Amino acid sequence: MNKVFTLNIKDYFQEEKAKIANLIKTANKVPKLAVIQVGDNPASNKYITNKKKDCEEVGIKFEWYHFPKDITTDELIFNIDDIQKEVDAIIVQMPVPKHVNVKVVELAIDPNKDVDGFHPITRFKPCTPLGIVNYLKACNYDFVGKDIAVIGRSDIVGKPMARMLTDLDATVTLCHSKTKNLVAYAGYSDLVICAVGKAKFLDCTGMPPIVDVGINFDENGKMCGDCYNTENAEVTPVPGGVGLLTRLAMLENIVEAAGIF
Ligand code: NAP
Repeated sequence: MNKVFTLNIKDYFQEEKAKIANLIKTANKVPKLAVIQVGDNPASNKYITNKKKDCEEVGIKFEWYHFPKDITTDELIFNIDDIQKEVDAIIVQMPVPKHVNVKVVELAIDPNKDVDGFHPITRFKPCTPLGIVNYLKACNYDFVGKDIAVIGRSDIVGKPMARMLTDLDATVTLCHSKTKNLVAYAGYSDLVICAVGKAKFLDCTGMPPIVDVGINFDENGKMCGDCYNTENAEVTPVPGGVGLLTRLAMLENIVEAAGIF
């Protein structure tokens, strides 16, 4: 069978970043991103630090707003209103503390600046599915008529992923925790996108190529995806796979929000 993931993701990430940096330089405009953090989730600190590094590398001005964990939804929205007037793009890093109403916060973001793609009428596609599709396109993957199993139906990964693949003329099976015969659906498909969030979830033996979206930690605290027996199939790596594709899609959305194409 022909290889699907023909481009090394780390090389692709570096090359695409260089293209974005060049685009920004040529446009002679410095796009501005604001990131809102509430509380001190350690994973969020790492994700925001990565975004900051990516932005600074390509010439995007990065503003990090940190609010205390007991801020109310109203106070947060008041601040978002103020901050977003001054920037091209804005994101609220998830998760926020439980008392904050996420839906209300998402609706407060300007849909033209919502580079996470979470607002119901946003201009942007969510970064993880967008990053995966862009990468597969760069690999010259022909989506038309392909059977693709998407495992996981969250609003930020599984559902938008299924929609984007359907729009590209693939035939999508959207699997979730109540799906019977999940392994059969996956095994029958031409490609699998696995976004469950459980280590050692999917045995790759005999499986078609798999995009492993999961970020988990094994019993030794080592980062791993959802897949195991990965040596028996073509599987995107974790770390160094979908995480990079997601970061790239975020940069692309910011550039678009700033009107640079
Ligand atoms: P989520 O909101 O927890 O959704 C998980 C999905 O998996 C749900 O739809 C759930 O089904 C399904 N699921 C759970 N157990 C299952 C089972 N036994 N069989 C079949 N389906 C099952 O998670 P998410 O936000 O989509 O993220 C998924 C994973 O991707 C996480 O590890 C997350 O950290 C990772 N992620 C990575 C990136 C990246 O940049 N690399 C970005 C986003 C997310 P139900 O709906 O039936 O409960």
